[in-house]
Amino acid sequence: MQSAAQRKQTPKTQLCINDTTDGGAKAPPFFYALQLRRRAAKVRLHSISLPLKAIIMRETHKGSCLCGTVQFEIQATFKKFFFCHCSHCRKGTGSAHGSNLFAFDADFTCSTGEEAIKSYNVPSSRHRRSFCESCGSPVPTYDRENSFIVVPAGSLDTPVLAEPTAHIFMGSKANWDEKLEDVTKFDELPK
Ligand SMILES: [Zn+2]
Ligand SMILES: [Zn+2]
Repeated sequence: MQSAAQRKQTPKTQLCINDTTDGGAKAPPFFYALQLRRRAAKVRLHSISLPLKAIIMRETHKGSCLCGTVQFEIQATFKKFFFCHCSHCRKGTGSAHGSNLFAFDADFTCSTGEEAIKSYNVPSSRHRRSFCESCGSPVPTYDRENSFIVVPAGSLDTPVLAEPTAHIFMGSKANWDEKLEDVTKFDELPK
């Protein structure tokens, strides 16, 4: 048992400037303080959940089309990640749903192939899809004036941090789009 006097002598915190346990003792106080601040920031970031991280983090991504003509880079904070089952998205992707990330603070640049990006607006709707004119792959639709971007998640070559927000327009889904997660799975083409 520690006496009251001993307890009084025990430092309240281990993280003082003379602390030798973390290699900071020899650093000048200013740099050491900076180290502590960085460490604290790291701890804060590790302790928050992945969806929250995705909401607050501005991400940098690279992406491309199937034939490689269009190569792009995006910096954005993705606010929504929707799986849209509407008939436009089903036609536009040839699949059960579109998988699109949305951001309102995006920077978008093409390293190659910007001139190969074509767009199509479904008449009398707000639905617009952009694609590579050579291979037809969906690529981001960017509104530079408003920094708004819709990114087909499959066009990205870098891992997506944002977790899917929701399946939307489920009322329009295909008749075969039912319990797809229960269908038999193979890692590759079955023999
Ligand atoms: Zn292409
Ligand atoms: Zn849709």
